Amino acid sequence: MLIYTQDSGNYSLKLEKTVDKTFMKYKGGYNIRLSNPPTGNVLALPTPEQLFLTRHIADIYFDELMVSPDEKVDQGQALARCNKGPLNMHAPMAGTVKYITDNQIILGQLNSNTAPTKVTPGSTQDTIFSSGCFIHINEVYSGKIPAKDSIPQAIFVRIANLDNYVMASEIELMGSLQEFCSGLKLLADISKDTILHVVVTKKQAVLAKKIKNDTADISNIELVTIPPRYGLDNTRLIADRWGYRADQHIWSISPQGIFALARAVNQGEKTTYTYMSVSGPAVNRPQYYKVPLGYPIADLLKASEVKDCPVRVINGGVMSGIELAADQTGVTGDIAGLTVLENNSARKLLKFARFGLDDRRFEDFFTTDMQGEVRACVSCGYCQSVCPAGLLPDYLHKLLYCNDLDRAQSAGLNKCVHCGLCSFICVSKIELTEQFIKGQAQLKAEQHKSSEGQA
Ligand code: SF4
Ligand code: SF4
Repeated sequence: MLIYTQDSGNYSLKLEKTVDKTFMKYKGGYNIRLSNPPTGNVLALPTPEQLFLTRHIADIYFDELMVSPDEKVDQGQALARCNKGPLNMHAPMAGTVKYITDNQIILGQLNSNTAPTKVTPGSTQDTIFSSGCFIHINEVYSGKIPAKDSIPQAIFVRIANLDNYVMASEIELMGSLQEFCSGLKLLADISKDTILHVVVTKKQAVLAKKIKNDTADISNIELVTIPPRYGLDNTRLIADRWGYRADQHIWSISPQGIFALARAVNQGEKTTYTYMSVSGPAVNRPQYYKVPLGYPIADLLKASEVKDCPVRVINGGVMSGIELAADQTGVTGDIAGLTVLENNSARKLLKFARFGLDDRRFEDFFTTDMQGEVRACVSCGYCQSVCPAGLLPDYLHKLLYCNDLDRAQSAGLNKCVHCGLCSFICVSKIELTEQFIKGQAQLKAEQHKSSEGQA
């Protein structure tokens, strides 16, 4: 076990690695511990003045409007449509359309006491798409929302969640295991040839046992138990280890998606709300929430009592989360948690984790004596020792530094799952993950260009 702690004011940063002999061949395992992780039960917040509904979700854009400004809408009514599928965006609450922009539909005069529009009964697969629960599903290898008619070879149900700063699956599952298992059964019914992998950590053995007992009558379900080490809960890594290939339809679904499916099929409910957390050192009241989609992020931050200082809001946890876009004003289904950091201290804190190129405190901890200037890779090998995808991040870094995309591709650039561990551990604080994300995008653009050239 390797532990490094640094206390600075309110912050307690802990770097730790636990070694599990059974899984010695797997890497990963570091994580950041900040103060104020989310705690307690799930809180429902009062009806806000407005809902800000984002028209972009993953790879889809709801371009075809089905309502106009000033129009009254019912809960569950379709507001806009995307031709992929086709898929509809639903009103999370009854209200009046206030404004429509290229990015958002804004609902006001909200009313939570009206009868919702119900899902039209159909097959499980139809219901996934007509109820809106597709927002909790993505294709493991492309990250896209699955096409309506695609039959998945396998579905990974992500109960294991090794980030402490987003919605915890145990909290979601509390008291509703029966509903969860009924959702699993529905999903297993999509096709008898579709294997349902329920991913849990070793620490969730009791929960796993209950799920196993309650789903004993499903033949195509399998529990996958992973070590509780950050990075190993990534469904793409698990799918690779289970022998799936990038050209197959492999879905990943969160517990929220399972509940949404069960409610859509059993009660005809459309997906109108989501569970998420708001936590981190810059909030006084870290909390789990249940909110309608589109809930104002400003109201959520206020409810969590954000400290009176400049803050940075991260969508996700600190290891792999990204700064929330300034124009994202409403909650979307893909936000599992917001981590709020004090701007100055957060920079300091994150700079400790990922010093960056201009940080002059580096010399307090390491002795390359470069006074915060651009640092070269010193071939320490630490990044190789943590990469859960089995890559050689230092080698990839050198190839990309030389613009050698072809060799970077052969060295597995596309297998990087952006877990952030290599950047975190790098003694030279090279922004490896960022470089790999850019490299993958460049590769994709070049492949697209060459396929267009051949057409
Ligand atoms: S190379 Fe990618 S997958 Fe490997 S540690 Fe770095 S970010 Fe994670
Ligand atoms: S951790 Fe950083 S310095 Fe060490 S080998 Fe990897 S890229 Fe190079």
